Amino acid sequence: MKALIVIDYTNDFVDGSLPVGEPAIAIEDRIVALTQQFAARGDYTVMAVDLHEEGDPYHPESKLFPPHNIRGTSGRALYGRLQETYDRHRDDIHWMDKTRYSAFAGTDLAIRLRARGITEVHLIGVCTDICVLHTAVDAYNLGFDIVVHEDAVASFNAAGHDWALGHFRSSLGAAVVTG
Ligand code: ZN
Repeated sequence: MKALIVIDYTNDFVDGSLPVGEPAIAIEDRIVALTQQFAARGDYTVMAVDLHEEGDPYHPESKLFPPHNIRGTSGRALYGRLQETYDRHRDDIHWMDKTRYSAFAGTDLAIRLRARGITEVHLIGVCTDICVLHTAVDAYNLGFDIVVHEDAVASFNAAGHDWALGHFRSSLGAAVVTG
């Protein structure tokens, strides 16, 4: 059994307060197509979405990044047609707030995957070398097989993006696929 985890494809991360920009905009069609494909097939589909509280002095990212994905703001809405896709498939897609880079950190994601007999996780979203990377590392440590869709991940850091794709393959044993 397999699952799709869509990571942080929100307004703030695409063209908002902490934007990946053009590389993230360029993968919109592919993100939407994969999400539709998995959800329509009945494969477990998770929308893993960064959540921050305004002015939180205890969050480590407060020192590292400008405010982003603040609870209740439009920056936290899904970008472009992914929001419509999610709205249309609400019954088939699990929305999951996360507060750290990894979708496994402080969430019940591993329990949910195991309960459904899922052994293979497909990762898409942003940023390749931050939240996708940290999610992949946790998936590796938890014993899941990993598939990263190269045409549906992006970063503001081109060198980091390329490095992460190599790391997925060579150190995490992931399949890095397109199309
Ligand atoms: Zn964050």
